[in-house]
Amino acid sequence: MNMITNHLPTEELQALDAAHHLHPFTDGNALAAKGARVITRAQGVTLTDSDGNDYLDAMAGLWCVNIGYGRDSIADVAARQMKELPYYNTFFQTTHVPAIALSQKLAELAPGDLNHTFFSAGGSDANDTNIRLVRHYWAAKGKPEKKVIISRHNAYHGSTMGGASLGGMKPMHAQGGLPIPDIAFIDQPNWYAEGGDLDPAEFGLERARQLEAKIAELGENKVAAFIAEPVQGAGGVVIPPETYWPEIQRICDEHEILLIADEVICGFGRTGNWFGSETFNIRPDVMTIAKGLSSGYAPIGGSMVTDEVAATLNAGGDFNHGYTYSGHPVAAAVALENLRILEEEKIVETVCNETAPYLEEKWMQLGDHPLVGQAGICGMMGSIAMTPDKSARAGFAGGAGQVGLICRDHCFSNGLVMRHVGDRMIISPPLVLTKSDIDTLIDRASKALDLTLKDAT
Ligand code: PLP
Repeated sequence: MNMITNHLPTEELQALDAAHHLHPFTDGNALAAKGARVITRAQGVTLTDSDGNDYLDAMAGLWCVNIGYGRDSIADVAARQMKELPYYNTFFQTTHVPAIALSQKLAELAPGDLNHTFFSAGGSDANDTNIRLVRHYWAAKGKPEKKVIISRHNAYHGSTMGGASLGGMKPMHAQGGLPIPDIAFIDQPNWYAEGGDLDPAEFGLERARQLEAKIAELGENKVAAFIAEPVQGAGGVVIPPETYWPEIQRICDEHEILLIADEVICGFGRTGNWFGSETFNIRPDVMTIAKGLSSGYAPIGGSMVTDEVAATLNAGGDFNHGYTYSGHPVAAAVALENLRILEEEKIVETVCNETAPYLEEKWMQLGDHPLVGQAGICGMMGSIAMTPDKSARAGFAGGAGQVGLICRDHCFSNGLVMRHVGDRMIISPPLVLTKSDIDTLIDRASKALDLTLKDAT
């Protein structure tokens, strides 16, 4: 058998990939025609492809490599754990040291009394857990009819049946008969796209109050929970108006429903605090975590719950739910080492005091570019909305996404990974980005915008 290694020519790797590898969120025909970009190594904030090209990774992989690439101590911890105890489960009254240590550390870091973690292998399955968990919670309280979970259009909560149902992505619902029953939706707080003539503060209140109206429509006795990302990530880094979260919190407090903060992207420093819930002053009952929990070095996620939720679940007897890899020892050890690095290198503090303010200053200047209708940033996640007409916040004539795609390709050609969501360009770089990396990022993004402007007009 021929060994497939980094040393094979790119075309050969691409042909093999197209022949045998089914990719997430990828058009297989386009893949066969053009071939996938083959990434062979990464160090710090830089990716290298099979042709030797370097890219500044302004997406931290998929919003996850918070501590940057190439951390030897994580590799060492993983190797040590694999030798000592590569696997054991946490079912049936069994545990192991990495799961104990990680759940204790998370209780220390998480806001409020979110002191208990149910582990998964990522964010989607953690949100599946949340669906079952909040329904089990209400059943344990003698209210099994409280089942409906309210979410938002254009939210992203994962790709499993439960996660994709909770998400509000229409193209995902169109495939496979989603959503599952008892999921309801309100509109997103996207002022740029949907705010019309309202000012952002009024719009934020209007969108939050849709939650109260939806609870009234469904009946408070039927609603189990509301789920939302503090800042919508995959929806295009949609930063809600300042009025939005306080009103959502009021509504959740006044009505008997649980608040689930999906912190899969916002958690572990992304918004300038350890959790987005702190940035927006949210008091969740349940918090979804993944991605930055291990900085992507190992697949792990979880559902964190408050003392009260945990006590109620425990009073309800066995929770008949679990994953083979819940609390996987190697993934848990890797996550612990990642948290140690985040803490000891004071990465979140540096983001808050230095990196995020510098990035914000530079990023917001992109708002002056003739192609940009709005620039927005929250900590280390930012977006720019491209438009042919700034004052009207208009879309492009050819349909959403075409100009975004052009811009993304210009980014790649200029050594920058920036993602597009429709015609919004988004970033979520590693938190360890230096000021000089930020200058490079902005320089390359400006160049890509200039080239896109030429192509789009
Ligand atoms: N929730 C949010 C907010 C996400 O952004 C994602 C992934 O991007 C998920 C859940 C799903 O996580 P995973 O891809 O680890 O299953």
